Amino acid sequence: MKKFLLFIGLFISSLAWGQDKVSYYIDLNKLVKDRLEIKVKTPTFKQKEVVYALPKIVPGTYANYDFGRFVQDFQAIDKNGKALKFKKTGPNTYQISQASSLAEIRYWVDDTWDSPEIAGDYVFEPAGTSFQADSLFALNTHAMLGYFIGHEKVAVELSINKPQPFYGGSSLQNTSLSKTDIFLAQNYQDLIDAPLMYSAPDTVSFPLANAQILISVYSPNKMCSASQVAEQIKPLLEAQKKYLGGQLPVNKYAFIIVLSDNIKNGSYGALEHAQSSFYYLPEGNIQTLAETIREVCAHEFFHIVTPLNIHSEEIGNFNFLQPKMSKHLWLYEGLTEYAAHHVQLKYQLTDLKKFMSTFENKWDVMNVQFDRNLPFTTMSEKVLDKYKDEYGNVYQKGAWLGFGLDLTLRKLSQGKYGTQEMMRDLAKFYGPHQSFKDNELFDQLVKITAQPELKSFFQKYVEGKEEIPVADWLHSIGYEIQEFDARDIKSLGFDFQALNINSETHRAVINSEEGIHEFGKMLGLKAKDELLMVNQLSLSIDSFSTNVAKVLKDIQLGDIVELEIARPTGNGNYETIRLKAPFQTSMGNAPRTFVPQKKPSDAQLKLREQWMNSIP
Ligand SMILES: [Zn+2]
Repeated sequence: MKKFLLFIGLFISSLAWGQDKVSYYIDLNKLVKDRLEIKVKTPTFKQKEVVYALPKIVPGTYANYDFGRFVQDFQAIDKNGKALKFKKTGPNTYQISQASSLAEIRYWVDDTWDSPEIAGDYVFEPAGTSFQADSLFALNTHAMLGYFIGHEKVAVELSINKPQPFYGGSSLQNTSLSKTDIFLAQNYQDLIDAPLMYSAPDTVSFPLANAQILISVYSPNKMCSASQVAEQIKPLLEAQKKYLGGQLPVNKYAFIIVLSDNIKNGSYGALEHAQSSFYYLPEGNIQTLAETIREVCAHEFFHIVTPLNIHSEEIGNFNFLQPKMSKHLWLYEGLTEYAAHHVQLKYQLTDLKKFMSTFENKWDVMNVQFDRNLPFTTMSEKVLDKYKDEYGNVYQKGAWLGFGLDLTLRKLSQGKYGTQEMMRDLAKFYGPHQSFKDNELFDQLVKITAQPELKSFFQKYVEGKEEIPVADWLHSIGYEIQEFDARDIKSLGFDFQALNINSETHRAVINSEEGIHEFGKMLGLKAKDELLMVNQLSLSIDSFSTNVAKVLKDIQLGDIVELEIARPTGNGNYETIRLKAPFQTSMGNAPRTFVPQKKPSDAQLKLREQWMNSIP
């Protein structure tokens, strides 16, 4: 059986390589006005017209980016170098006439990190590109390379001519021995799913179970090295391997990490891929970065389970131009986030106190910043437009749904079965090439776990509006919520946890009415107001914390506070308004913490033990 499968595998891949392919060329030595030239040698087309497209969106980002807007000076050429006619039919598409004569496409691309002149939504750095001649080329190639519609499954080859001292870190294998790196992939989706980072080499590689792990780090001021990062994440990966049952669903995996000394858009993070993840984090030494690195890496690495290996058809057959969103973000992001923390607790990389404080914080942010009455499945399906401001709740309420589901399953199974086992069982049904139907997942989970009661869990808390019963869930493992008296607090009228960043204006925005304090109401603040200045000091993202602290430090009751805000008036327009009021303190929300119950029952303690320590 094994031999037979291997033979089939070889046969299919040799067939694929035997066909025409698309070859892309990039010369990193030729950076002109912050742009790189892309050359595409095309296969032979039989049809009259063909459309070359760059993605509007890529998997894992849950946002429309229109990567076509970074393309300039597009040319379609026949084999004699003669220009062919083409028409730009949309922000991301070029329709080329005389397709049967097409031999090559050429154009220039700007990077996304550093092109403020290009209009449109800000591209989250882990999904974008940066071209810096002497130091770094961060290449998420979906922001540079396109595909021919209808020919997405054709084999592809990418050649990169690099500056001599640079190394290209990626999960892709360089197959060339010369100065030019050459990467092969089965198709476009596989190629762009493997970001590359070219920089002075700083890498570490080591085996983990059945997989080879690569860590590649770029630290502009040499504050942190790949070996320091490896030291932090090795124990974590060991724990994650055990959590997944001792084997990994991949045979290689790359952590590509860019540390930045200029986080100008106010956000950082990472994006997952099938065999790698790309990180964009604030630069610091390993002491300051360790916790962030562990937390983000744990999350991204667990994406090898979902959505990468367990996903719905919407993701399995991803449409780069007109994507349909699945309703299961609670699974892809929420359960992944929960597992990233649970694994650390279970294998003693963190303790229960720290775990509880993480989930306390998620609960607070969820309550103050996001819409409580919005069913999670509805948010998920419309996350690209109507509910894009609610996306961040996947890391808050989403993680809580994972926590609650785990405890519910454990309780129903007398501690024997939780989400960890559920995901393993689910993986047996599906895989990277076997998608589930969006509407069938809940029934399938009920069947796999043999727990009919789960149906009502999904109906109430995931598809429905019912508030999640945090107190009950905590109670099942002998924890309770302790409330303190509300107290006077000094604030500029809003709760920090209610702030978000508007990705278009790059300004701090008060996300919800709940986040406005009494003093804020006196000032006249409203939900969706964006903050510009306080007492003549800027509230731009990079000076926000410093200037807020400066004002609050010396302020006295009755001092005049002047807040300048931008209030949306519809259609992306804003009105600048100055709000003024004599300073007063506000009654803050009563702080709440999760504490162990004084006299938990044996059953509660037993469930806690099974939830924390069961080694399957
Ligand atoms: Zn994620």
